[in-house]
Amino acid sequence: MKFSKKIVVGILLIQIISSLIYNYLYHYQYATVLNMTIEKKECDTNFVVGNIFNELKQEYSKHAEELLLEQKIVEAFAKGNREELYKETLPIYEALKKSNKYLNIMNFYTADTHAFLRLNKPQEFGGTLGTFRKMVAKTNESKKPQYGMEAGKYGLYYRVMFPVFNGDEHIGAFEFGIDIKYLISRLSILNINTPALLVSKKVVAPIYMYDENASSYLSEFTNEYSIIKYNPQGKEDVSIVDIVDKNIIEKNSYIVDKNSNSYLLYRGYTLQDYKNSKIGYFVFMDKMNYYMETIVFVRWISIFTTLLLILVITLLMYKLVREYAAEIMVQKDILNYRTHFDSLTGLPNRVLFNDRLQQAIEKAKRQDKSLALLFIDLDRFKQINDSLGHDIGDKVLKIISERLKNVMRKEDSISRLGGDEFTILVQDLKKGEDASILAQKIISSLSKSINIEGHTLYVTSSIGISIFPNDGKEADNLLKNADAAMFRAKQEGRNNFQYYSSDMTELAFERVVMEASIRKALDNKEFVVYYQPQVDGITGKIVGMEALVRWQHPSAGMVFPDKFIPLAQETGLILAIDHLVMKSAMTQIAKWYKMGLEPGVLALNLSMKQLNQDGCLEKLSLLIKESNCRPEWIRLEITEGEIMKNPQGAIDVLNRISQTGIELAVDDFGTGYSSLSYLKRLPIDKLKIDKSFIDGLPSDEEDISIARAIIALAYSLKLDVIAEGVETKEQKEFLVKNGCINIQGYYYSMAVSSQEMEEMLKNGIEK
Ligand code: C2E
Ligand code: CA
Ligand code: CA
Repeated sequence: MKFSKKIVVGILLIQIISSLIYNYLYHYQYATVLNMTIEKKECDTNFVVGNIFNELKQEYSKHAEELLLEQKIVEAFAKGNREELYKETLPIYEALKKSNKYLNIMNFYTADTHAFLRLNKPQEFGGTLGTFRKMVAKTNESKKPQYGMEAGKYGLYYRVMFPVFNGDEHIGAFEFGIDIKYLISRLSILNINTPALLVSKKVVAPIYMYDENASSYLSEFTNEYSIIKYNPQGKEDVSIVDIVDKNIIEKNSYIVDKNSNSYLLYRGYTLQDYKNSKIGYFVFMDKMNYYMETIVFVRWISIFTTLLLILVITLLMYKLVREYAAEIMVQKDILNYRTHFDSLTGLPNRVLFNDRLQQAIEKAKRQDKSLALLFIDLDRFKQINDSLGHDIGDKVLKIISERLKNVMRKEDSISRLGGDEFTILVQDLKKGEDASILAQKIISSLSKSINIEGHTLYVTSSIGISIFPNDGKEADNLLKNADAAMFRAKQEGRNNFQYYSSDMTELAFERVVMEASIRKALDNKEFVVYYQPQVDGITGKIVGMEALVRWQHPSAGMVFPDKFIPLAQETGLILAIDHLVMKSAMTQIAKWYKMGLEPGVLALNLSMKQLNQDGCLEKLSLLIKESNCRPEWIRLEITEGEIMKNPQGAIDVLNRISQTGIELAVDDFGTGYSSLSYLKRLPIDKLKIDKSFIDGLPSDEEDISIARAIIALAYSLKLDVIAEGVETKEQKEFLVKNGCINIQGYYYSMAVSSQEMEEMLKNGIEK
């Protein structure tokens, strides 16, 4: 920028200086010279031309007077003797013409203004022409001499005209006419090396407009000027050079001639006719090119620098505009950020949140899904601000917002509505109650202590939840209702959450209570393992058993897995439960083996989530080792549905497990829509026909064909097959007859405690 400023200033200086020089040279210096020249030429011309006219007047007046004193001449004229008159005057005419070749006219006119004798054209006389010769008429009328210019048939002449008297009697007029070329020839001797021009008003007739057919001649002048150039000697005929601007001639001015790069000056003497009316000028055209080259050069510099200046300024403006535009874009971004984000926490603000909520609602409507809006308000936050100051308060808010971000899923959106209020929008909500899991997580995450500058603070929160579409179909309604629910949470004693609809709160509360009591149950070892025998349907001998978890609730009594397994799976508590079940069942089975009993293979239920955990295999091996168990005593049951969620992933995981010698069975087979191609590639040992296909046996046609098909499939894939949920003898017999020997179900036994199972192992199953 600095550099370009210098350039601009530099160019500007050059421009100013060059235009100053130009103006000085052109308008001051040169114009002065021009004007001086103009004045001089004007003086010269006026002086010379005026003198010439005076000379002519005096000289030819004298000649005329002398001639008219000759008695013979006057008498011959008075008698009308043309021949006599011609004879007497011809020698005088020839003598005068010898001294001035431009003397072309020496005429006699009658008193009634007819041409009587023309010395240069003696054969021409009479005619009506004379009546139009006004100067002749005037001489005859006034009977006094007349001097001046008048156009004639053959040109422009300075004329000297005398009345002719015979005694007292007026008999006509006598005229001398000197061609105007004489003036030119005289002027060219002036010490001015420029051509002299005659600028005259155009003569209507007879010089230029002469027309053979014209009935009459008019010696009148038009108002148009034309330049008539004579050669310096004045020998040549007149020629019309140009019709010039009258102003240039009349104002004694000059014009610039672009061809010769010079100035043309027109200076001159005003020509008058005998009536003293202006009929033209004698002018000199003078060429001047004084300083011309310098002026032109300076002028080019001036023009060039002007253009350069325009260019540079344009470029600078362009650059400037671009810089401003970029700056504006940045400002726009900042403004945009400020209007949409909270400056303290960097979270979206109310404006952006409303926008997102609006969009989420539209999307949920289209896809027929529900969403949850959590309204989070910190409890007694004002106290922190009041007692510790706003700086600490701000820091707390930042920490809280970080914690909130960590708790929620990426696809959910969070915002700070203002003060200590936050909102979280949960999209793709499967069940309304699911929002409570997040609410619970938030409550526990926020309630952890915060350490700032030596202060240990506890901030709890109250959360209100509204669900789309049940609690509102519009954004403001949802927000209003979430707010109302939050208010109820405050009333309920803070540090809790409430749904807008109280049914939901109850439902969620049950879950929360349940989750808490599962945790408690784990601590208190309330989970016990029950065993359900798997029996050889032909011999009735126990070949294995399935470990099934039971919850011995201190007050509610025995709780079955369907009541807590789904929630345990959602919350991840299943990992702890399964670990507990595996450890205790493995220990138990090893004990039985050690006792010399034959418990067969222990079937354990595991989810893929479990198997996908890092180090799962190691944990399994460790458990087996710790409980003195052996891999070949263990079979893992994974449901078909779980495997088929990600078959390729399952193949990899199960392969690794299978390599340790642990058996694998597909649980609930027939319900998960297995693809046969995957089934072939899975490292499994056993298919477990789901209870739903056993129920209709042996009467239901459909169940019959499905059960048969699964058995046939197992045989063809060289897999073992077992049926579960077998309750009747008929069912058992049908299965055995059709090749499914392994039977599990109430027909033999329900899942029983380890003591009862031990009895069964010792004594066998009675049937
Ligand atoms: P599952 O793996 O399909 O287990 C078989 C279920 O069928 C057991 O229910 C068992 O008691 C029941 N059952 C067996 N024979 C019959 C019969 O003849 N008639 C009827 N009506 N039911 C029969 P349970 O123990 O309630 O377990 C339910 C589900 O909970 C299990 O289904 C399994 O998926 C899950 N589960 C049980 N214990 C555990 C465990 O320790 N860990 C894991 N991850 N899941 C478990
Ligand atoms: Ca099972
Ligand atoms: Ca099953």
